[in-house]
Amino acid sequence: MDKKKVISDFPKSFYKGKKVFVRVDFNVPINIETDSIREDYRIRRALPTIDFLIDAGAKIILGSHLGRPKGKVVKDLSLQIVSNRLSELIDKEVLFVEDFIGGGLSKQLDDLPNGSVVMLENLRFHEAETENDPAFSIELAKLADVYINEAFGTSHRAHCSTYGMTKDFVDKISGFLVDKELSFVSKMMETPEHPFLVIIGGSKIKDKISALGNLLDRADKIIVGGGAAYTFLKAQNINIGNSIYEKEMLSWVEDVYAKYKDKIVLPIDHVISKDFNKTSQCLISDIEIPDDHMALDIGPKTIELFNSVIKGPGYIFWNGPMGVFEFDQYSSGTIHVARAVALATWRGATSVVGGGETIAAIRKAEVLESEISHMSTGGGALLEYLGGSSLPGIEILD
Ligand code: AMP
Repeated sequence: MDKKKVISDFPKSFYKGKKVFVRVDFNVPINIETDSIREDYRIRRALPTIDFLIDAGAKIILGSHLGRPKGKVVKDLSLQIVSNRLSELIDKEVLFVEDFIGGGLSKQLDDLPNGSVVMLENLRFHEAETENDPAFSIELAKLADVYINEAFGTSHRAHCSTYGMTKDFVDKISGFLVDKELSFVSKMMETPEHPFLVIIGGSKIKDKISALGNLLDRADKIIVGGGAAYTFLKAQNINIGNSIYEKEMLSWVEDVYAKYKDKIVLPIDHVISKDFNKTSQCLISDIEIPDDHMALDIGPKTIELFNSVIKGPGYIFWNGPMGVFEFDQYSSGTIHVARAVALATWRGATSVVGGGETIAAIRKAEVLESEISHMSTGGGALLEYLGGSSLPGIEILD
């Protein structure tokens, strides 16, 4: 992918007094019971861009979605709470605007001092947003003079705020975070350091198949853990009991395993249970799983095996947990992998970790953000990009 213009390619004077629309990805997990943000990583990651623009004297209009309100106003999916958190982080008032259609906000923006920050209510409260409705795009575009994409995680969607509205702008620029995401992912696809290790987990292979397909030739080793491993084991006629697997992926997995057998590392033991719940009793099994049990985490021998592969230096890409890490008794495999990736990074590896679940797992393992080279904010977008799809929200940038 061609290099995109980044926010710092223009002098700060370029932004002074201009209204700058920044499409951010503040789709953060909210704890509804306590009315608090569980994880503000995506907000913090946009701060360099927001700080730069405040310093430059721009008038900043932040647009984002939160969850899937499907075109309706859903109180629990209001961005007010995010706006409040942002205000704390930048130590500055953030003007939260619920109604930004019809020209009223434009006039208000004219009167705001340079360096002001405005946060729009959840864009997906409007059905038009996800439909890429031209009229809604025009309404959004009317608000600003310059467009910045800082929402890598939403760049695979051709919605009004990521795509439709951009055609009315002369300057369409990437924010610092999008620039960083693109540089790590391009490096992974073009010139990764070797050994290049890919670690795939999570529950579904289907979502990751194109990315995996593109990485198989490039990678030196591929660890497959989590639910994704059981389609591989099943394809080798290993008894997987009631573990999850994807029937329709069996023949693809068989072909891949035949071709890349020497590269692929699979679990050799498991933490198993009869039931899928927080308090279910668990056992360790060897590679074959009894009929009435399912694997919910990798076992201790597998942890040792995976640790011996995750060494560094080189390049490591990790997507998807090794087990149902949300339940403590099935989190050990994921925690060990997170720590092994951090250790490999200390040994000089470049590590890229992607996907919301995997980032949550990094937290659970008490691995610091600084112990991973890049924690990508893009789950679906990252996988689509790695799978060779173009991202509309990136293609349209200068
Ligand atoms: P994904 O979105 O495909 O990365 O999947 C993430 C989810 O996979 C997490 O919520 C895990 O709980 C789940 N997962 C990981 N390993 C297993 C497993 N062995 N069985 C069932 N679910 C799993």
